[in-house]
Amino acid sequence: MIAITSNSINEERLAEIVRQVEKHGVTAHVSRGTDRTVIGIIGKFDPSLEEKLRAMKGIENVIRISKSYKLASRDFHPDNTVINIRRVEIGGEELIVMGGPCAVESPEQIDEIARLVKAAGGQVLRGGAFKPRTGPYSFQGIGVEGLEMMAEAGRKHGLLTVTEVMTPEYVDICAKYADILQVGTRNMQNFDLLRKLGQIDTPVLLKRGFSATYDEFLNAAEYILAGGNPNVILCERGIRTFEPYTRNTLDLAAIPVLKQLSHLPVISDPSHGTGRRELVAPMARASVAAGADGLIIEMHTDPDNSMTGDGVQSLFPDQFADLLQELEKLAPLVGKRFDTRKQAAAVPG
Ligand code: PEP
Ligand code: MN
Repeated sequence: MIAITSNSINEERLAEIVRQVEKHGVTAHVSRGTDRTVIGIIGKFDPSLEEKLRAMKGIENVIRISKSYKLASRDFHPDNTVINIRRVEIGGEELIVMGGPCAVESPEQIDEIARLVKAAGGQVLRGGAFKPRTGPYSFQGIGVEGLEMMAEAGRKHGLLTVTEVMTPEYVDICAKYADILQVGTRNMQNFDLLRKLGQIDTPVLLKRGFSATYDEFLNAAEYILAGGNPNVILCERGIRTFEPYTRNTLDLAAIPVLKQLSHLPVISDPSHGTGRRELVAPMARASVAAGADGLIIEMHTDPDNSMTGDGVQSLFPDQFADLLQELEKLAPLVGKRFDTRKQAAAVPG
């Protein structure tokens, strides 16, 4: 249930309403929008509370929310969530580009790729130190040393970093080194992991499960939000369909749908979404045209020798730089800002 207050309500009255609501054994989340303030009420539905709220001074309307997710819903939080990480704003006006290899392979590799991501105008360095591989005999990532290498490259080149965390036990160590923690598609419903991520405030890039509906995806985000971490970024990364030509089918419609249903930032991963290098740039452009707040793109200096199978979908550095130039032209047409020269010179706070 949500209660919408009148525009003129003062802080004291708002606090009193919250106190009254919480007497009913539910939690009240206050979200101050530009035009109105919304009190989201989480807990067992209580008809007597609904009636009481309707009669309260300062309350304009009470709406029951039938969606299974609440905090992730735009009903609860009408304005876009903007996540500010050391002066980089995700979900705001600026288009965000995260680039880098599938996996961190060596200090030299990640340093050189970080340099290229920064020079091209990207804001975030991606790279996996723990890799969720389909087969147990495949390369599993280089682990904690990879986190250190990546943090060092990010620091040196003025980039934020994003890396995948696979288990609750590794959340704290990954959060020590990275600015954003990625939950991979295979872990979208790893509820213990989601709960653990709810207990910290490091931003989480939550990838859509490759067979997950929008409702399931937003419920996965809800686990993190309900735990107390408001910093969730949704990522469409392709779903499994009957089409074998592409590795996954990038669900472009997910971008406007998720923006409609939720206030959380939405980014797109055209690399895993297609699995084919030649499709990454067109699907990246299409994602931005569809309203994505950002992109996460695999780029490698030597994709033929990439230690994961994802070399085939990794852009060469010049392709990555060309794509960012195109995005710079496209962004203003869809109400976004993207200035590659400014980004290349920017130092995160
Ligand atoms: C990745 O980002 O390298 C990755 C493994 O992504 P996903 O979980 O989307 O497959
Ligand atoms: Mn990959």
